[in-house]
Formats: sequence, structure tokens, C-alpha cells
Amino acid sequence: MDARLTRLSCRDFWGAVASLAMPRTCLVCGRPLLLQEKHLCLACRADLPLMRGASLPQNPMADRYNALVEKGPYEYACALFYYSGAYRNIPRAVKYGADLKAGRHFGRMLGETLSASPLFQDVDMVIPVPLHWTRRWRRGYNQAAVIARQVALVLGCPCEERLLRRIRRTRTQTRLRGESKAENVRQAFRARAGKTGAVRHILLVDDVCTSGATLASCQKALRACVPDGVRISAATLAFVGE
Ligand SMILES: [Zn+2]
Repeated sequence: MDARLTRLSCRDFWGAVASLAMPRTCLVCGRPLLLQEKHLCLACRADLPLMRGASLPQNPMADRYNALVEKGPYEYACALFYYSGAYRNIPRAVKYGADLKAGRHFGRMLGETLSASPLFQDVDMVIPVPLHWTRRWRRGYNQAAVIARQVALVLGCPCEERLLRRIRRTRTQTRLRGESKAENVRQAFRARAGKTGAVRHILLVDDVCTSGATLASCQKALRACVPDGVRISAATLAFVGE
């Protein structure tokens, strides 16, 4: 028998055993998944509200981010999909449900979307939005780093997790509105100077972009440590539209 077929059937067999022990369900509609489906059923995968902004320098997320950032070149920004309806379950599962497999899966999809765009081809460093160490310690992981590592892997550049630090513990952004969000994360981050070397294009990665205040606060901290010509773009799994 063809070796590839044997490998496939072994994987299917153990996949079926795992599904019986712990049924896998679609993150969006909750239906049981078929063996070939990963995290989403075929119907929900087909309806994923893709943002399709990766090749557009100006899109709703880039406009929101650029309105808040420290001036430099016009920064690029995009998300994989819109944070809408039950698709909100995807980032929630990664952040609160410790579904790191989903985080890696959608992180890889985000990376593939960025690598297909001419705007992100020259990214030479990926930086996840950091958690304060107390929150990181309690949660056990940083969901932004789980996503960022996959993005860096696809783009073929390093994922730098020690350059940016969250120096202030901020309230969770979820229940705050516009102005309070910006106030909440103002000066919450600090970048270590001298660690960026010859970097030309940094990509900040987070799970969700809501007001853009967190990403902008990170951009400001980094902007203070890098030469003027360095672009500091942003990418997230989901974007909260109007
Ligand atoms: Zn579904």
C-alpha cells in the first residue's frame, strides 16, 4: 500500500478515536465536526466574514489605527475577519477558553493572508501585544503571542516577545468605550531601546482590534525606540467594524 495512504488512515483512525473521546464541535454553530473539518464546519468556514483588507493600504482598520498613532509613514493594518455574530466565539475561545490549537490555526491563516499581500512582504519582525506579567501568569499564556508565532513562521521572520512590555496593569478593555479605552492603555507599554537592530518593518499582532487604542499605545512605545523610517504595522485575527 502507498505509504502516504497508510499515514493518512492512521491519522484518520486516531482522529476518530479522539473525536469519540472528546467530540469536536464547530466554534461558530456548535455542530459536531467531520474528520476533515478543523475548528469550523464547512458551512461556517464558507461564511467566515473575511475582511479582505490586507492588500489595501487604506481600509477601515488602517484608518482607525492611523488616527491614533504617533506620526511616521502611513501604517498598514488589517484583520483576518470581522468580529461579528457567532464568529466572535473564535477569539473568545482562544483568549478565555485556552483553545491554543484554534489560535495557531487562525494565526496561520492570518499569516497566509499577509504573505499574499504586497504590503506585508517586507515585514522583518513580528511583535505580539504583551499582557501584564500578572495576567500572563494567571492565564498561563498570551493569546496574542500564540497567534503572532504562527504569523512570523509563515512570513519567515523572528517573533520578538521580549522587546515590548506592558508596564501597567490595565482594566480589561472589553467593557470600556472609546475615550476610556485610550485613557486606560495610555503609557501602558514600554519598548526596550537598542533591540530592533536593522529592522525596517515591524508587525504588531493582537487577537482583536476594537478601538485601536491598545495597538496605538504599543506603536507609540516602539516609535520612541526606532528610526523614523521604520514602519509599524498591525494585524489581528478579528476587527470590530462600525
Ligand atoms: Zn458551523
